[in-house]
Amino acid sequence: MPSVRQLLDLQAVDLDLAARHRRLGEIRELLGNEGDLPELRVRVGDLGTSVKTIGARQDEFDTAIADQTGRIEKVEAKMYSGLVTSSRELADLQADAAMIGRQRSESEDALLGVLVELDDAQGELTETSERLERTETEWLVDQDGLAEERTVLEAEVAVLDEKRAAQAATVPPPELATYERVRETHAGYAVARMRSATCTSCRVGVPNKIAQTVRASASPVPCPNCGLLLLAD
Ligand SMILES: [Zn+2]
Repeated sequence: MPSVRQLLDLQAVDLDLAARHRRLGEIRELLGNEGDLPELRVRVGDLGTSVKTIGARQDEFDTAIADQTGRIEKVEAKMYSGLVTSSRELADLQADAAMIGRQRSESEDALLGVLVELDDAQGELTETSERLERTETEWLVDQDGLAEERTVLEAEVAVLDEKRAAQAATVPPPELATYERVRETHAGYAVARMRSATCTSCRVGVPNKIAQTVRASASPVPCPNCGLLLLAD
């Protein structure tokens, strides 16, 4: 019976070790994994490009409007110069000025649309850039935390490995072999306490005769239902 208690202690250390190795595995996956960051960087790049493209269209309209204004001024200067006296020619100039004015008005409407588009694109670029910056900062903090956690876990594993080796050395080899075999097929568990002739793991009653053997035997006795090695309480 004392040997089954040794196995229970060994199981406690092994479960501690397994939990730490599991977390170390998760940390290995997370370290260097940038998650959403690459996608966000691409998005910021794309938005920057579209802001530039829309900006270029704004420049085109600005230039066109300036040109149209210049042309109107020229026509009007001619109209009011006093040099044109023919009413026919004056009427033509007036019609010219009116036509260019309509064109400028169309350009101004188009420019307004472009300015709204530009404003939207710039807003989205700013928002996405800020999100990228925030995510990068958080990522770096997370990575630092994970690296620290890994250092702590590795130190704990080293201590537990030594403890495990020392404990395993005191268990008779055949029982250690039984322990390892049961543990492999029961998700890391090999020992269950038996309380009032019931296995505390599967909660099924242990027949009297076997319960007596569990209490008296020096070597491990498995639960007839789940197969874990029983330790009498
Ligand atoms: Zn059981």
